[in-house]
Amino acid sequence: MAEEDVVLEVRDLRMRYGTTDVLTGVDFVARPGEVVALLGPNGAGKTTTIEILEGFRMRSAGEVSVLGVDPAHGDENWRARLGVVLQSWRDHGRWRVRELLEHLGLYYAPYSTTRIRRPWDVDELIRVVGLTEHADKKINRLSGGQRRRLDVAIGIVGRPELLFLDEPTAGFDPEARREFHDLVHRLADEDTTILLTTHDLDEAEKLADRLLILAGGTIIADGSAEELARRMSTEAEVKWTVDGQRFVHSTHDATGFVRELFGKHDTAIADLEVRRASLEDVYMAMVRQFESGRTDAAVRQFAEVTR
Ligand code: ADP
Repeated sequence: MAEEDVVLEVRDLRMRYGTTDVLTGVDFVARPGEVVALLGPNGAGKTTTIEILEGFRMRSAGEVSVLGVDPAHGDENWRARLGVVLQSWRDHGRWRVRELLEHLGLYYAPYSTTRIRRPWDVDELIRVVGLTEHADKKINRLSGGQRRRLDVAIGIVGRPELLFLDEPTAGFDPEARREFHDLVHRLADEDTTILLTTHDLDEAEKLADRLLILAGGTIIADGSAEELARRMSTEAEVKWTVDGQRFVHSTHDATGFVRELFGKHDTAIADLEVRRASLEDVYMAMVRQFESGRTDAAVRQFAEVTR
C-alpha cells in the first residue's frame, strides 16, 4: 500500500514475554484521519501493541510500519511526528502548566519541516484542553482530571500526524469527557490519525470510526460498531405495555415484530421501546464466543492427549 494511504500497517505481529506468547499474529491498518479504538480484555496485549508501534518495545516478529517507518528504527524526526499520551507526568509537579507546554513545544521546533504541521500555539492548546484557568498553576496543584487534560496537551503539543491515546479519559468527569471527545473529533477533522485504547465502550462507539477487538493474541473483530453488530446478528429488545401489563420480547427483526404487534393490539399499545444491542452487548458476545471457542478447542486437544 502507498505510504500516503496508510498511516499504520501491522502484519503478523508477534510478541513473546519469556515463554508466554501474548501476541500471536496481529494484523491491521489505519488510514489518515481515522480514529481506531483497540479494545480487549485486561491482559490481551493492547499496551504491548501500542508500545511496539510507539517504538518503546521491540517485537518478537512480524512487520510493522508507522508513518512509513519501522518503529524499531525510528529516529527523532519520525518521533516528532507522533504524539503519545502517557500516564501522568508526576515528576514535573513543580512546573506550571504554561511553562511546561512552552518548554515541550520547543523540542518540536527543529522538526518543523514541511512534513510536520505547525506546532500548537500554547495558549490555544491550553484552551482546547480546558486548562485556561489553570495555566499558571503548578502541576502538583491540579486535580486528577486536570492532570489528565495536561497529559493530552503534552501528547499533542507538536501537532502530531499520529496520536496514541492509552485510556485517555480515565478519571474524567462527564463534562471533561464530553470536551475531550470534542477535541478528538477536532483532531480527526484536521487529519490526525488516532489509535486509542479504552474500557469505556460507549466512548469507543462515540469516537472511533473503526473498532479492533484483541483477544487471544489476535484481532478477532475489525469494523465499525454497526458492522460488528451485524456480524453478531444480535437481537433487539422490544418492550411495551397493554392494559397496564408490561411485556418484553427479543427479536432479530424489531420492525417486523412491532408491525405485527400493532396489527394485533393497535391503540392498546403504550410505552413502546425498542433497544438495539449496544456495543457493550456486541463486545461481550464476541469475546464470550471467542473464549468458548477456545475452551472447546482446549477440551478437544485435552481429549486427544488423554485418548
Ligand atoms: P493490556 O494492555 O491489554 O491489559 P498488556 O499488553 O499490558 O495487556 O499485557 C499483556 C500480557 O503481557 C499480560 O499478561 C502481561 O502480564 C504481560 N506483560 C506485559 N508486559 C510484560 C513484561 N514486560 N514482561 C512480561 N510480561 C509482560
